[in-house]
Amino acid sequence: MRIDIITILPRLLEGPFNDSILKRAQDKGLVEIVVHNLRDYSTNKQKQVDDYAFGGGAGMVMMIEPIDKCLEHLKKERHYDEVIYMSPDGELLDQPMANALSLKQNLILLAGHYKGVDERVREHLITKEISIGNYVLTGGELPAAIVTDAIVRLLPGVLSDETSALSDSFQDGLVSPPVYTRPASYNNWDAPEILRSGNEKLINEWRFEQAVSRTKKRRPGMLGEE
Ligand code: SAH
Repeated sequence: MRIDIITILPRLLEGPFNDSILKRAQDKGLVEIVVHNLRDYSTNKQKQVDDYAFGGGAGMVMMIEPIDKCLEHLKKERHYDEVIYMSPDGELLDQPMANALSLKQNLILLAGHYKGVDERVREHLITKEISIGNYVLTGGELPAAIVTDAIVRLLPGVLSDETSALSDSFQDGLVSPPVYTRPASYNNWDAPEILRSGNEKLINEWRFEQAVSRTKKRRPGMLGEE
């Protein structure tokens, strides 16, 4: 799988992909993450990528031309399944969406800045818009990194324990049960006896019950009880 991220601030994306699981996934060749500096596609000497909004008002608007040029360049090289704009009013990211995206071959994520992109980008060049939540951030880089992380950890071979992603919250319509590790007792706070019993059947039953009761408490909507 290949994910191309278009941004005016590539440095913001250096951190999240150069460590730990996402780094290893790239080193193993399971995913290619390529960050593009939108300024490289600017058509004037000042490397301009934004301009004042028609009609006035505070905040700059990202221009269509550099974005179009960058997309054109990428699309010439390969077919993309989706060209995604990160936007606060887009479709809300959730696990089923991450699952669906993890089955794609090539994705483009466009990170906005300032007031966002010229509306014509959204009308004509974008195939999907994703929001990471109903709040506004300064730029689309962190949202793009979040979408990338949510997708890449699902790719076969990325997590060392194959079942690990499947047992996470939301995959089976339930949130995760609680987890514990050593020491068994800390400040007289004890980890549940049953998890240390070695009885796999009882442990699985306990985990399932915990997952159900937690889901009821924390995400009743997932059980259709909202
Ligand atoms: N004026 C816009 C907000 C622009 S914020 C509005 O009111 O909707 C600048 C950029 O940050 C956006 O173009 C988008 O790419 C990104 N962004 C901000 N919040 C986001 C969110 N919740 N989800 C996804 N992207 C977001």
